[in-house]
Amino acid sequence: MKKIAVFCIPAHGHTNPLLPVVTELVHRGDQVRFYSFEEFREKIEKTGAEFISCDRFLDELSAGEAAGLKAVSSTEMTIQDIRITINMTDFLQEEFGTFKPDVVFSDSVCFWGKLNAWKYKVPLVISTSTFAFNKMSSGYMKQSPREIVGLITGMPRVNRELKKLRKLGYRFKGLLSLVQSDNVTDNIVYTSEKFQPYRESFSDHYLFAGPSVFSDKQPEKDPGKPLVYVSMGTVINDRPDFYSKCIEALKDENVEVIISCGKAVDANSLGALPDNIKVFPYVDQLDVLSRTSVFITHCGMNSVSESLYMASSMAFYPQTNEQEAVARRAYEIGAGEYLRDDSVDGIKKTVRTLLADPKYLRAAKACSDDFKSCPGVKGAADFIETAPHLSADRRD
Ligand code: UDP
Repeated sequence: MKKIAVFCIPAHGHTNPLLPVVTELVHRGDQVRFYSFEEFREKIEKTGAEFISCDRFLDELSAGEAAGLKAVSSTEMTIQDIRITINMTDFLQEEFGTFKPDVVFSDSVCFWGKLNAWKYKVPLVISTSTFAFNKMSSGYMKQSPREIVGLITGMPRVNRELKKLRKLGYRFKGLLSLVQSDNVTDNIVYTSEKFQPYRESFSDHYLFAGPSVFSDKQPEKDPGKPLVYVSMGTVINDRPDFYSKCIEALKDENVEVIISCGKAVDANSLGALPDNIKVFPYVDQLDVLSRTSVFITHCGMNSVSESLYMASSMAFYPQTNEQEAVARRAYEIGAGEYLRDDSVDGIKKTVRTLLADPKYLRAAKACSDDFKSCPGVKGAADFIETAPHLSADRRD
């Protein structure tokens, strides 16, 4: 039995893949403490892990900071990450001293998990909810000039915060070492070796576990009345304009439609719905995807992985550069088409194209088979329980 401390930032997309792995660890008898936030309490407690509430360490945000976070600004997210780490320093010193974890299992951008594992010399396993990113694979992310300017102008603020971290005894090379994957840290990535861009550039400290999903549902599509599912994920989903265009585009098509509009949009504001269209603030996405033929998606890593796992084709509608990278890879394997023209007409045409040619569903099914042959949740749990892993050149 191991004592395992789990850390994650307050985001569904980063928390969700941890849950099946944590459930497996608890099931095996490991003692798991999951440090997270009230919004995630319910789903974390369902895993059987001990939930440790960390809301009191979140900073009060100014209006500008809140707007930056909502727009997923890298500078703003980095600054918040550092501030939470600073706020948690004393608490985690106490926790590491009393709980004495054997392993830290931390999300890849959760600075307080990684930095405290290094500080207290506890074996660290990183949970990477996107692709693993190094110099090669980050070529998949095209940054817009606006983002580059934002990063450069934000650097002095970030550097000031980093200095404070160093003063508290945290040791790290630089900002890049906090956010990028390296080849000596144990790492679980929730995709397959085939789907990971430039897999060959990553060492055997990486376990490509495949999507971390709870569902035992099998794909079951209805070709007579195909299901189209629309979701913009859980972060930048305040898009009533887009949902209205989807409704207009699909109301007279021979399809069923489910829209997950997020909690920020009032479903009633979308007007009277046609019989073939249903709108919910949140759905059981894996269940819906098992029946979906076409998924109109923002291309979050989890959504695309779950879609491929359930062998659904996709209309790619990425909004951030990370989502662009995921879309590009899924496009390369032939599992969908870009929704470049997001007008009513553009949406209708893209959905018709995807429904008309079975090659998209075939490509998604091939990927689904590949994902199902991965080590999965059990392999991920084995990897955590047996950490740290030696590098290949140090095994003899
Ligand atoms: N999700 C869900 N129901 C919904 C919308 C989203 O269960 O109605 C889940 C989805 O299955 C996925 C996660 O929320 O696991 C979204 O993560 P993703 O990386 O796709 O996007 P993000 O929300 O981080 O932008």
